[in-house]
Amino acid sequence: MDRTDSRANLAFLTDNLKSRERLGLHLVAGAPADLDRLLALFIPTPEFSCLEDLSRNMRECKRCPLHQGRRKVVFGQGPTSATVMFIGEAPGEKEDEKGLPFVGPAGMLLTRMLAAVGLKREQVYITNIVKCRPPQNRDPLPEEAAACRPFLEAQVRAVQPRVICALGRPAAQSLLGTKAPISALRGNWQTYGQIRLLPLFHPAFLLRQPERKAEAYRDLKALARELGIASAQEARK
Ligand code: SF4
Repeated sequence: MDRTDSRANLAFLTDNLKSRERLGLHLVAGAPADLDRLLALFIPTPEFSCLEDLSRNMRECKRCPLHQGRRKVVFGQGPTSATVMFIGEAPGEKEDEKGLPFVGPAGMLLTRMLAAVGLKREQVYITNIVKCRPPQNRDPLPEEAAACRPFLEAQVRAVQPRVICALGRPAAQSLLGTKAPISALRGNWQTYGQIRLLPLFHPAFLLRQPERKAEAYRDLKALARELGIASAQEARK
């Protein structure tokens, strides 16, 4: 199906569902807003030839309600040749202001965590499950993550990382389709399609609970081993 077909189908579906709604026949029980949310999932993703192009074309994205409160879409940052992709849950206040991922205090800790295993921030690709800041920094809702997933999938396809690191519970649960707690997931290798995936503590969590940094460091050493690089500590021995 080409894009013209999918737009025509979307228009047909919209008309059909709106007519049913006018007759009081709801496909989804609940408020009419449910219908708008459902229809948003059928909005085609913007056309793009490369990630920069997609990033430019999605600045006006309204596929989910998170567009209402955002200042900037926070697409992602890093080289498409990156071996490792770090995926967090959502932009926070600083990220929303700057339009860049992980630029607040948690981002600074992430940079230090990378350095601890011999990685430079410029070498890795960093993004989030959703590209717009949720109100009061709450976790993204499953339907928001679903609406934003085509953008994440496009990033994964373009970068083709050897390893994905899921930062924190919401990202790990969303990527792995599980409700297991991060304490059970962290440090245990999984797969995302054909790609090795390592859940890690989110740096914001480590700022709140610095006593968990030793576990985080063990997980980072596992990442370094997988990538065949010596951690900064091991390199000094
Ligand atoms: Fe679009 Fe993603 Fe922002 Fe929702 S979170 S409005 S799907 S860019």
